Amino acid sequence: MILQTAVLSLLFCSIQSFRLQDSFEMTVESSGNTIEDDDFSISTLLEKANANVGKNLDDPLVMFGDIAMPTGLQNADPCTARGCLWQKAGDGNVYVPYRISNEFSQRERSTIIQGLRSFAQSTCIRFTPLNRQRDFVDIQSRSGCFSFIGRRGGGQVVSLSRQGCVFQQIVQHELLHALGFNHEQTRSDRDEHVRILLQNVIPGMEHNFRRIDTINLGTPYDYNSVMHYGRFAFSRNREPTIIPIPDPNVAIGRATEMSPTDILRVNRLYRCNSTASTSGMKPQQLDVL
Ligand SMILES: [Zn+2]
Repeated sequence: MILQTAVLSLLFCSIQSFRLQDSFEMTVESSGNTIEDDDFSISTLLEKANANVGKNLDDPLVMFGDIAMPTGLQNADPCTARGCLWQKAGDGNVYVPYRISNEFSQRERSTIIQGLRSFAQSTCIRFTPLNRQRDFVDIQSRSGCFSFIGRRGGGQVVSLSRQGCVFQQIVQHELLHALGFNHEQTRSDRDEHVRILLQNVIPGMEHNFRRIDTINLGTPYDYNSVMHYGRFAFSRNREPTIIPIPDPNVAIGRATEMSPTDILRVNRLYRCNSTASTSGMKPQQLDVL
């Protein structure tokens, strides 16, 4: 029985990675808006990878697709005003200690480290290997991709399942949660930019589309944010659940890496304006507004 399960999950795994590969290749030529084109969107990747989330008793409760909730079911309002930011060091950088579980392959590990390092290229966030600090991100392969919002205190799990989560954009997406960011389509001003079609949402999944009283840091709503879900996220009927307005045809949720606005937000939230932090930033990333 165990062997059977192992074989089955291996089979599932290989089919899934084949499909993902396939989808990524499609991104190059395709800019259509059909559900097939959306196969590689962040939300599709998260949905696929998170199909079994919550089935393990030691997994945290996961809401909004991939946000782990602390016990007590507090909502996922930005906690940044309540002290869940990571601390800024005297040199202007924000050092976020991390630990990566041994269960990842060398290749997976290097994808994850590349994702961690990408923050240092354009922000003052410096993910650094854990060295006895109290608070840190504990990167593990649990069932699915998920993260808490902001610093929780102590070691906090960021799950990047080996089955579908170890991709640059998902690594960045989950780390942005850990830094304090919510999904773009839950932003306080989202109704001016997208229409949510709850009638097409899988029953019981409506909470993923709840609006949150976010702090938007003076940054514009961004369809290209790595935190934006695709148009068919949690669809029950292959019809869109998120439609951009006023132009329903613009692409949404197709980021393959952090957008300039994502980067700008990190820089604003963590006040990365000291000399130590902006040296690596390209001029166009400062000119988004
Ligand atoms: Zn997410």
